[in-house]
Amino acid sequence: MHIDIITTLPKLIESPFSDSILKRAQAKGIVTVNVIDLRQYATNKHRTTDDYAFGGGAGMVMMIEPIDNCIADLKAKREYDDIIYMSPDGQRLTQSIANELSLKKNLILLCGHYKGVDERVRQHLVTREISIGDYVLSGGELAAAVVADAVVRLIPGVLSDETSALSDSFQDDLIAPPVYTRPAEYKGWKVPDVLLSGHATKIEEWRHEQSLERTKQRRPELLD
Ligand code: SAH
Repeated sequence: MHIDIITTLPKLIESPFSDSILKRAQAKGIVTVNVIDLRQYATNKHRTTDDYAFGGGAGMVMMIEPIDNCIADLKAKREYDDIIYMSPDGQRLTQSIANELSLKKNLILLCGHYKGVDERVRQHLVTREISIGDYVLSGGELAAAVVADAVVRLIPGVLSDETSALSDSFQDDLIAPPVYTRPAEYKGWKVPDVLLSGHATKIEEWRHEQSLERTKQRRPELLD
């Protein structure tokens, strides 16, 4: 998979990709991530990519021309499955959207800032809009990192144990069961006996029951 991230603040997005699973996925050659500084595409002499809103009001708006030029440049090199604008009013990110995106080959994630992008970018240049939740961030960079992380860890070969993504919460509309590690007893707090029994079928049954119970308690709507 190849991900291009368009941003005016490239530094903001570097660190999530230079550590842990996202780093390993790139090192293994499974994913390439390219962060593009939109300012390179600024056409005015001050190299700005935003301007005042028509009609007035507080907050700057990101101009269409640098974004259009940037996307055109990228499209000349690759065919994209989706050009995604990170937006608080976009489609809310879920595990099932992450699964869907993990099957794509080339993606662009466009990060907004200030008041967001000129509406014509949304109408004519992007193919999809994704939100990471009903709250407003100051920029799309953290949201793009969230999307990339949720998607990349699902690509086969990225996690060292391929089955582990399958047993995570939401993957089968259930919340993950509780997990424990050594010591088996700490300050008198014990690990459930079944997990120490070595009995694979019983452990599997217990985990499934726990998953169901947790889902009923915490997220009953997932069971509908
Ligand atoms: N004025 C806009 C908010 C702009 S926030 C509104 O009220 O809808 C600035 C940028 O941050 C947006 O362009 C978007 O790229 C990003 N952003 C903010 N909240 C986000 C969220 N919940 N999910 C994804 N991107 C978000």
